[in-house]
Amino acid sequence: MASGSDLVLVLDFDGTVTDRDIGDEICDRFAPPSWREIDAAWVRSEISLPEAQRKMWAEVRCRRDEAIAHARAIGHLRPGLDELLDRVDRSGGATWLASGGFDFYIEALLDGKMARFGQAWFNATRFVDGGIEVDFPHAQLACGRCAVCKGRVCERARALARRVIFVGDGASDRCAIGCADELWAVKGSLLARACAERGAPHRTFTRLDEIEIIA
Ligand SMILES: [Mg+2]
Ligand SMILES: [Zn+2]
Repeated sequence: MASGSDLVLVLDFDGTVTDRDIGDEICDRFAPPSWREIDAAWVRSEISLPEAQRKMWAEVRCRRDEAIAHARAIGHLRPGLDELLDRVDRSGGATWLASGGFDFYIEALLDGKMARFGQAWFNATRFVDGGIEVDFPHAQLACGRCAVCKGRVCERARALARRVIFVGDGASDRCAIGCADELWAVKGSLLARACAERGAPHRTFTRLDEIEIIA
């Protein structure tokens, strides 16, 4: 994106670009049910997201091909994605992907679409000995809670663009509240509830092409 462009739209992945949280679905399929207790501790802000993810993903037992096959079987892109990406392009802006999730399923589900994103940040995995090791390579985007902080990404977008729109659904997207000019939350999501509780301005959506880009 050329500097001075008007708009950066920052998109979360799990539960936002997709209709379900793919990371959660993979843990559900390949880890014992106790992973949910670790996740709940993160949602209550008792531990950081990377700390929770290191513990949760250490419980997952599967091969890379099994994990990708499951992600493809249960994961669907939310309707309206292409229209939203086209709309941002036509406005002269850029779409950035900011995910606290992991490379193998994001790349599998966005196969052929990755080039549509001006920037894309997510975490890394290595399939080793029947399990998955996770790695958090974007230290410059970390906060005390997240490895890819949505608030930090919005601040970075603000340095380049006059207008920043954030689109998300989940617990890690709470860091974007107050950091974007406009915030869109998936209808009925944890992020929508968090915004409502804090009195933070937001709009809700179900299809991605409900998100308005006014050039
Ligand atoms: Mg999400
Ligand atoms: Zn954060």
